[in-house]
Amino acid sequence: MAASAAAIPSVVTLQGVGPALATKLQRLGVCDVRDLLLHAPSRYEDRRQVMPIAAARRDKVLIEGEAVSTTIVGRRRPILLCRLRDDSGELDLCFFHFHAGLCHRLTPGSRWRCYGEVRPSRYGQNARDEGFEMVHPELEPADRATAGILPIYPTTPGISQNHLRRLITQALASLDAGDWLPTLPPACLPAWGKTSLETALAKMHRPLSEDRWDGGEGARRRLGWEELLAHQLAFRRQGRSRRENKAPPLVADPEKIRILRRSLPFRLTSAQERVIAEIQADLSRNRPMGRLLQGDVGSGKTVVAAHAALAAVSAGWQTALMAPTELLAEQHYRTWERWLSPLGIATQLLTARQGGSERKETLEGVAAGEVDVLLGTHALFQRDVRFSRLGLVIVDEQHRFGVDQRLALKAKADGPSPHYLVMTATPIPRTLALLRYADLEVSAIDELPPGREPVQTRVMGEDKRSELIERLRAWIGGGRQAYWVCTLIEESEVLAGEAAEKTAENLHLQLPEVRVGLVHGRMKAEVKDRTMAAFKAGEIDLLVATTVIEVGVDVPNAGLMVIENAERLGLAQLHQLRGRVGRGPGRSYCILLYKPPLAESARRRLAYLRECYDGFALAERDLALRGPGEVLGTRQSGALRFRIADPLRDRDLLPDVRRAAEWLERHAPQAVDSLLTFWVEEGDRYANI
Ligand code: ADP
Ligand code: MG
Repeated sequence: MAASAAAIPSVVTLQGVGPALATKLQRLGVCDVRDLLLHAPSRYEDRRQVMPIAAARRDKVLIEGEAVSTTIVGRRRPILLCRLRDDSGELDLCFFHFHAGLCHRLTPGSRWRCYGEVRPSRYGQNARDEGFEMVHPELEPADRATAGILPIYPTTPGISQNHLRRLITQALASLDAGDWLPTLPPACLPAWGKTSLETALAKMHRPLSEDRWDGGEGARRRLGWEELLAHQLAFRRQGRSRRENKAPPLVADPEKIRILRRSLPFRLTSAQERVIAEIQADLSRNRPMGRLLQGDVGSGKTVVAAHAALAAVSAGWQTALMAPTELLAEQHYRTWERWLSPLGIATQLLTARQGGSERKETLEGVAAGEVDVLLGTHALFQRDVRFSRLGLVIVDEQHRFGVDQRLALKAKADGPSPHYLVMTATPIPRTLALLRYADLEVSAIDELPPGREPVQTRVMGEDKRSELIERLRAWIGGGRQAYWVCTLIEESEVLAGEAAEKTAENLHLQLPEVRVGLVHGRMKAEVKDRTMAAFKAGEIDLLVATTVIEVGVDVPNAGLMVIENAERLGLAQLHQLRGRVGRGPGRSYCILLYKPPLAESARRRLAYLRECYDGFALAERDLALRGPGEVLGTRQSGALRFRIADPLRDRDLLPDVRRAAEWLERHAPQAVDSLLTFWVEEGDRYANI
């Protein structure tokens, strides 16, 4: 990172912030003054209108008046009552928790501005007639009262709104002294937001008492724009530094391609052919490819990736394929082995649970260059894994990985950078793809293999379980196979596993003639493998599973899936699961089982899934319902966490953002560094990739 940007001061540099408060602030994600400034209000309260007391009868209102009398009533639970009067009338302020000091401050004749909810008297002096009271109002001396529009912040126990406001006021004031706030040349600011960052921050936290106030939207958009800009710049920098590296040009041997193709039991779709050509064009250059391969579940990404690996192997380089789960890595291994071994290509599986000697052998083969294609989970980037000539990295189901993992793998290669292919079946909404993958080119398989019909999706209450069981009996009687997926509210494989065991037992009792199998994440690997293999071989009719089967598992004869507690899962995940059964010819079915009563929002969600088979539309919908972190699965990895911007609401800003990014890179590269430091937490990390 360039030295141009000064360090951002910690919150402890602010007056009144000691270690205890600093710890509490940390709970809000606030560590330094920048975090405080970007701690956006969740809403605002309009306190421009002081209401006459006589008119205040309910709701939250602002009143101002003179204390007439202050008394403490009640012995066991004392209540402090203060009678407040203005020209129009009187009411009581009631406090159940109070310091003695408050009693003294509310002296007769003192004037106060109070904000709170008004209700008919219950405790006040007028409890018996038609008086009104305000319980625990926010209280300020009238001559020093906060006028105007008040920001309300997300907070945590032990930090009051006033406390936060005071700290933020200090943070705003400290800006004069520091030079760590990025300043953008006015020329790159969008026409609608020519204010400086400092002004926009001030407006967000101290909205002016304008007559026509925009609800804070103007400031939020201006800040969101800059945040999006910073992220875009970070990704562009990442992409550029990758492109500056050298990479080995990889071209597939046509004879190998011919043999592979002849062994496939299908013809490639034209979409597959197109992306294979796009990838080959990239690989043949001496700059590292960075490509995102998008394709809905079942669109046939695997065979496309295998073509890329053929290019690497043909040129004498190794390929690493990383999958998110052991199950999927093993399945890939079986497929790739079948495809590639007839070509004399050595494929090898590396998983976390391989024994010492087996593992050692694999690692030696990889280091010696005897293994051409290494497949595995994140076990691939443990420290002891050394490649001899890593030329291509393929990451399947990218959204499952955090950024860090993906980088650790890339850093494995010494010498030239490997080419890099990311595959995802969760169609990333275009909105997000633009932001998140600004450094990657995108290829899309936008066509399913012929003969596939959309999965018929039904929503069914649990009370219809016995009907469902009969249907299952008939289905399996007809020679087909099925999945039964158990899900739980917690992300607990243990509990889900228990639920799956119980379900498998029950199904076995209800369907004695059916061969029931069970897989879940906590099972011994061999047992799981054996069960999966048996299911694939048709020796098991009904596979009860947890969501471990979500990704990639491929059994074309299994054309029916029941998903329990479907109402608890997100759309994208349900779509992924459902994709397991759209894989063979003929009609396939997905039954979404829910526990009645079904909440209205869940009903709408499931209905949407029933109607829609477009992964992109579902992903957009999910994004709207659940937020970007969830959709991309990057919440823990810290990537794509926006403080102010809302990628969905602000998507119309992206053209402006892109323009500004290009302008800055050309005309004011030094401003880029300070932008990254301020907005992108992982600024350093991006810069060094
Ligand atoms: P995904 O894109 O979800 O990873 P896969 O690569 O696992 O999909 O492919 C899904 C299934 O479709 C596999 O059984 C695969 O062999 C098959 N398949 C792939 N391409 C074609 C094609 N062009 N025609 C018919 N079947 C195909
Ligand atoms: Mg796949």
